Amino acid sequence: MAQDKFNLTFWGVRGGYPTPGPTTIKYGGNTTCFEIEAGRQHIIVDGGTGIINLGRKMMREFAVTQEPIRATILLTHTHHDHIQGFPFFVPTRHYHSYFDIFGPELLVTKEPFEEFLERVMQPPVFPIGTEELYSTRRIEQTKHGSTLVLQNNGQPVQHYSVGQIIPPLPDDAVIIRINHGYNHPKDGILFFRIEYKGRSLVIATDTEGYVDDDQKLIKFSENADILVHDAEYDEHEYGRDTVVRQGWGHSTWRMAVNVARAAHVKQLVLTHHSPSHDDEALEKMLAKAQVVFPNCILAQEECTLELL
Ligand SMILES: [Zn+2]
Ligand SMILES: [Zn+2]
Repeated sequence: MAQDKFNLTFWGVRGGYPTPGPTTIKYGGNTTCFEIEAGRQHIIVDGGTGIINLGRKMMREFAVTQEPIRATILLTHTHHDHIQGFPFFVPTRHYHSYFDIFGPELLVTKEPFEEFLERVMQPPVFPIGTEELYSTRRIEQTKHGSTLVLQNNGQPVQHYSVGQIIPPLPDDAVIIRINHGYNHPKDGILFFRIEYKGRSLVIATDTEGYVDDDQKLIKFSENADILVHDAEYDEHEYGRDTVVRQGWGHSTWRMAVNVARAAHVKQLVLTHHSPSHDDEALEKMLAKAQVVFPNCILAQEECTLELL
């Protein structure tokens, strides 16, 4: 039924920096941004350049429906390729928009996340000051073990920290569980598990596998319907190329497959495509991954997956 819909749409699937052009036209050149629709809840993961086109779509919908824009925005971390589209996300400039924004603790610089996010959206790096962003924004830092609960009762998003008791929830609540991985320089990375009406989706971008696999992530992803996992490298690029990329915080397709298999997820989506991989290179990697894990696909810009 439409009100039970649980969809994932990819607006940006590239790591590092945008790579437009004819050789990336099939899978897309925008940096990371995913949109999740779960019943009446609207969730956006990351603000890479993909969020710009998502914002345009939201404004087109607003022009038709005139319904205020509301969304929960989750930021996995603060690297450029995950925030660089945010200043150009037009709905933040409008009075009729309300955003709950959750992002990581900045462990190295110790700057509060709220201050950091507002800082990157104003002069001298951007022409518009935050005083000209007329949307209402609640910006909060979150961390490992926290849970967000989104309900259809008009209440704001509930933010529970680890150990806090979560009261019984109605069937149509959307639950977002938060986990932190240390395997991405230098602040680590937030993983999100989004659950709605018995279905679940895990986002695990910008993460590097361990020897004997990432057991914490495997546990976190257990039995998920969809796991979206970093797969920036082919195996020869990771440790045996002229440039050794071990320790850079990204995975090979095999690391992603190993997590998916051990966690018994139904479908694996490879993302954070390397800017140096064209469509052909991505499909060669996919073919290798599918030998080991057949229900595996590549994240593709403007494609929607339905969780049934
Ligand atoms: Zn990235
Ligand atoms: Zn990163």
